[in-house]
Amino acid sequence: MPPSALASPNVARFKQLAEELGAIARLFGTRGWTPATSSNFSVRLDADHCAVTISGRDKTRLTADDLLVVNLAGEALDAPPGARPSAETGLHLALYRRDPDIGAVLHTHAPSAVLTTRRMPDAENVRLQGYELLKAFAGVTSHESTLDVPIISNSQDIAALAAAADGRLDAHEGICWSYLIRDHGVYAWGPDLGSSLRHLEALDYLLGIELELARLNPRA
Ligand SMILES: [Zn+2]
Repeated sequence: MPPSALASPNVARFKQLAEELGAIARLFGTRGWTPATSSNFSVRLDADHCAVTISGRDKTRLTADDLLVVNLAGEALDAPPGARPSAETGLHLALYRRDPDIGAVLHTHAPSAVLTTRRMPDAENVRLQGYELLKAFAGVTSHESTLDVPIISNSQDIAALAAAADGRLDAHEGICWSYLIRDHGVYAWGPDLGSSLRHLEALDYLLGIELELARLNPRA
């Protein structure tokens, strides 16, 4: 719910974004990307705050009451009793802190992401090359492009995981709007919710093609 401490223009913005996020979450639910209350989503409200999903809520029924406003240090504003931000909020906040132009972060446990990391146990990146749909990623203008998507090892230590992700993004060359966490899922982001959704959908499609190619050509 929108905290009373939020300035009034941001309360209206919070409600609008909560509706958009709810629609996205329901869509993801129909795709099987958010099983067993997993996954978490956030949108930036202003330079210092974002709304993030409350831990343990069914993401297929997401409403404004399932969101908490936190500052970029992770402190919740006016949290109802018993409500705490998603366990992985630290990964969202690390992205918002590293780039003020990031407006939304979407995390799912989509099978395409988990299968990809299982199939490539030693890989540090997934390379996507030559696909028309690469143009769905902001900044890519031709299918004659190469996108490396970092793969990060999973951990229950979210601060360590966020630091590892930050390090990989610092070292990354080229366009990067997502990373995979091994045996876990995918994070995708963008300047706003729409572009974050587009990045996540494009990545899922391309990982699905790569997985199907591997199935058809197991020795390739
Ligand atoms: Zn997760």
